[in-house]
Amino acid sequence: MTDLSVPFRERAGRALDDHFLQEALTIATTKFIELRREAFGSFPEGDALRDRARAIKEATLQRLDAHLERLIDRVEALGGHVHFARTAAEAREIILGIAKRTGARMAVKSKSMATEEIDLNEALEHAGVTPVETDLGEYIIQLAHEKPSHIIAPAIHKTKGQVAELFTRVLGRPAEPDPEALTRIARAELREKFLQADLGITGANFAVAETGTVVLVTNEGNGRMITSLPRVHVAVMGVEKVVPSMTDLMVFLAILARSATGQKLSVYTTMVQGPRRADELEGPDEFHLVLLDNGRIRQLAGTLREALSCLRCGACLNVCPVYRQIGGHAYGYTYPGPIGILLTAMLNGNAAVRDLAHASSLCGACLDACPVRIDIPRMLIALRKENVEAGRAPAAERSAFGAFARLLRHPALYRAAAPLARVLQRPLARGRRIRRLPLFFGAWTRTRDLPVVAPRTFSERWRALERER
Ligand code: SF4
Repeated sequence: MTDLSVPFRERAGRALDDHFLQEALTIATTKFIELRREAFGSFPEGDALRDRARAIKEATLQRLDAHLERLIDRVEALGGHVHFARTAAEAREIILGIAKRTGARMAVKSKSMATEEIDLNEALEHAGVTPVETDLGEYIIQLAHEKPSHIIAPAIHKTKGQVAELFTRVLGRPAEPDPEALTRIARAELREKFLQADLGITGANFAVAETGTVVLVTNEGNGRMITSLPRVHVAVMGVEKVVPSMTDLMVFLAILARSATGQKLSVYTTMVQGPRRADELEGPDEFHLVLLDNGRIRQLAGTLREALSCLRCGACLNVCPVYRQIGGHAYGYTYPGPIGILLTAMLNGNAAVRDLAHASSLCGACLDACPVRIDIPRMLIALRKENVEAGRAPAAERSAFGAFARLLRHPALYRAAAPLARVLQRPLARGRRIRRLPLFFGAWTRTRDLPVVAPRTFSERWRALERER
């Protein structure tokens, strides 16, 4: 668990000093970037489908209430139960209520950022229900008592050597740092749990309003086991995950796996339609869909509206120069990376990202990589602006930029300041650069140089030229 009382700068610094983390991140993110590039390189329709996907998302958000009503009607017609949770606490309460009523003692889970968002595992444990993560990455971090550090690859921060050491220590089985061998061990450990569990808990990548179908895309097949073996299945999804029709779903499926892992399609696309019917051999007795608001609906008319189109593919994390250096835990919240900063602001308020909003070079790589072309840099700038206007920027920064703004607004002051600055900078300048500023200004030059004030400013040159004419 990340300690949020430690400032972000310090958390990031520790991540930069962690050589295992650096090694694991470089290998994994580079691989993801290459796979995505190859996948779209051999998919000429890709760009048009990305535009189409974005248009569908935008149109869906405009009539979100109608699509949700239709989804609810369809799920209920199929024999499922739909619950609406305004907050994380309400979502936990709903799920714990289902667990209590059905006498559940063990819950198997497939990877779900929505359940991470509502801290479900802790709540289940507290209520005497043992949660077992069954996605390999989630299983690893559950054994390590950690949180996911990537949206689709929760254990991306661990090397295979670290996983082998973890399995050996926690499971008491000697394990080699070989992914196949490690997967076999996890498989053997988890197989029994699927059979023992009374409750299956999943997220949802999409829910189709027209048919009441909840869609899960996975690569390990655990999602399929969870939705068919336990007596009760609970799916938790953010309200924005609804898509109008099966035709729309196909557009998203065509770009999601390519963006996430470079696959044409994920290995399993599981479609759940309510509980088991009389003529079916497998499936749960009860199916529950928990629709989670938790700050999303407010953003339909908010600064972060565009972020509601996110497919959670993780591509923006892989290309982000900040994420690639510090990994996910340094961000401190459930959702890391550039989109994670926006989602953190959505769920926890703008004050939570006072520093995080600056954890971006605004290079635009996330916008280029995003399958639905979410303009993350634009929203990060908006968050920075809102935080400055709300007086949340550090006092030193506020006074420095306030003084600079006054200078720029008053030409006479600006003209007088340039010769003065030239004198003051003399002891600090090395050639055309200042490498270290004194006092709290030193924070600016800790990671970059400051160019010296030019021997003649533009306006001084201009005036000189006019005199010569
Ligand atoms: S913002 Fe775009 S790139 Fe990032 S996770 Fe969401 S859909 Fe993927």
